[in-house]
Amino acid sequence: MTNETTANRALVIGAHPDDNEFGAGGTIAKLAQQGCEITYIICTNGNKGSHDPDMTSYRLAEVREVEQRTAAARLGVQQVIFLRYNDGEMEPTPALRAEMALYIRHFKPTIVFTHDPWKHYMLHPDHRAVGFAVIEGIVSARDHLYMPGLGQIGLTVWRPQFLYLWSAEQPDHTEDISETLELKIAALREHHTQLDGMTDLEERMRQRAAEAGQPAGFAAGESFRRMSL
Ligand SMILES: [Zn+2]
Repeated sequence: MTNETTANRALVIGAHPDDNEFGAGGTIAKLAQQGCEITYIICTNGNKGSHDPDMTSYRLAEVREVEQRTAAARLGVQQVIFLRYNDGEMEPTPALRAEMALYIRHFKPTIVFTHDPWKHYMLHPDHRAVGFAVIEGIVSARDHLYMPGLGQIGLTVWRPQFLYLWSAEQPDHTEDISETLELKIAALREHHTQLDGMTDLEERMRQRAAEAGQPAGFAAGESFRRMSL
């Protein structure tokens, strides 16, 4: 249940800027320290995530990309790809599924991280939509009769070893993030438009990490549903 995670390449796919840090920031930092090559895909531009009446969607999208790049760099992530869909409008369409499959075939990750779309009472529709599109995209990425044209231009099939779902309905794996919790918090702090108003961010993150780690005997943890692919 608590065996060590290692990977050569990881693909972390979140709906919004900041989701990857919240979901798996400590584990991502840990993998980066082990020399894992990490790529982020951020599906939406996060252009509705503001309560500031003077903020526009255009400006918010620009600022959030900068925040996301800075946060990713703090964790040691090498590459951030922005798909720039409108916030709140993600749907798990065949086109989105194919898009996910294309990135998986291209980057050939050992591990994929994303949202658990089966989580009950999860409010945000984008989290569900992205979770489903990634899971379905994994099937399209690994079976050669999906998107046969891609194989003909060299984007051949790829099967990641593991899928890690964060905020999981039924977690079955805990990652020890005792050494990287501070990096996770520092990365989250870079999302100023989202978190500057949250005065108890640090306390909440420490509390959540302590609770997640406790059953496995870790001072701090992140829990996932780990699917072997
Ligand atoms: Zn989100």
